[in-house]
Amino acid sequence: MSVVRKQIILKGILQGIGLRPTVYRLATKHGLSGWVINTTEAVRIEIEGARDNCDWFLSELPTAIPSPGRIDVIQTEDRSPLGETSFSIKRSIETQRDITPIPPDVAVCPECASELLDPKNRRHLFPFITCTLCGPRFTVVRAFPYDRERTSMADFVMCEDCKSEYLNPNDRRFHSQTNSCPKCGPQLSLLDNCGRQIEGDQIVESIRLLKQGKIIAVKGIGGFHLAVDALNENAVQRLRDLKGRAEKPFAVMTRDIEELKRLASTVLSVVKKN
Ligand SMILES: [Zn+2]
Ligand SMILES: [Zn+2]
Repeated sequence: MSVVRKQIILKGILQGIGLRPTVYRLATKHGLSGWVINTTEAVRIEIEGARDNCDWFLSELPTAIPSPGRIDVIQTEDRSPLGETSFSIKRSIETQRDITPIPPDVAVCPECASELLDPKNRRHLFPFITCTLCGPRFTVVRAFPYDRERTSMADFVMCEDCKSEYLNPNDRRFHSQTNSCPKCGPQLSLLDNCGRQIEGDQIVESIRLLKQGKIIAVKGIGGFHLAVDALNENAVQRLRDLKGRAEKPFAVMTRDIEELKRLASTVLSVVKKN
């Protein structure tokens, strides 16, 4: 059996998408040793093992890239085998050179959505639920390479349960930089415009206030959203007055694309009638 070692350099949208865990799983699946590392301008991989297994790894790698990632450049080069026995994820290196594109924030994935609504799950109704497949990226990154200490999650230290997910290669949250839970993650609070705590469930109360035409500033781990009931003309006008934004459209948020289609056709039919 001939043993080979290859260096692979990937460029594209590759950070903050769970690429390193994916590479780890793919390499161990094919019994390869080596490592993967994020640098500021690329992801570098070295694999070592039987030639056939290295070829399998290389052929499966492009389709294994988690969404919304994208490989723009892939370069491979032969290296001399080093006799390594395991595969590891190395600490990121900060280098000076062109910056990698920042991946976008990704809407909650189906797995997280079902955990969110499962009363038996430890993240039941936890608003900051994420995994390597979903959650904020663009809005939490302060610098590259994308690692927790360079995101707005840096101050939240993972509890034992979260840490064991983070360290488990077979877990969906393996190396998930925004990993947290109700025990160790950010907490919700609802304050009035004088900074006083409003009693009750924060989500239920916020919905009630929105329905009353109030403006809610939603502060997430990535920044602020100003929210009003888009179907309440007075509330929208008040937001326009306060923001000094007379005409420029606001973004409309809906539950899903079906809801948006229903709303959009409603708006169209109103326009037609007038
Ligand atoms: Zn998820
Ligand atoms: Zn936790």
